[in-house]
Amino acid sequence: MCAEKISKTSLLKSVLTNRCPRCREGKLFTNPNPYDFKSTMHMPKHCPVCGQRYELQTGFYFGTGFVSYGLSVAILAIVFVAWKVLLGLSYYDNSIFWCLGSATALLLVIQPLLQRLARSIWIAFFVRYEGNGRVKGTV
Ligand SMILES: [Zn+2]
Repeated sequence: MCAEKISKTSLLKSVLTNRCPRCREGKLFTNPNPYDFKSTMHMPKHCPVCGQRYELQTGFYFGTGFVSYGLSVAILAIVFVAWKVLLGLSYYDNSIFWCLGSATALLLVIQPLLQRLARSIWIAFFVRYEGNGRVKGTV
């Protein structure tokens, strides 16, 4: 009998819930609360489920800046389009400045979530899914 146990979690769900990209079960961050600023970015060295090393090399997470930048620009674009469609944007009534201020405030408030999401996306680029770390088809 095969003891094949493959996680049913999708790639998108594992990235959004900050799970290990290899097994999609282990948590990437030690503290589940991203707004606990003392430990927002604390990660265990290895996945508690499959043992995947989280920092693949020194400075591995330097590249998350690019991911975070892309996410921020996408959120800004969504805010601008939503503001334009729902409220209208104009330079003359200062609504564009209110939109800019609101978008900036939104980005500041969700920054811990964005940082974690950027790390989750970044490590998912480099680590392939392999079930829960057990070799498929073996006991
Ligand atoms: Zn894992």
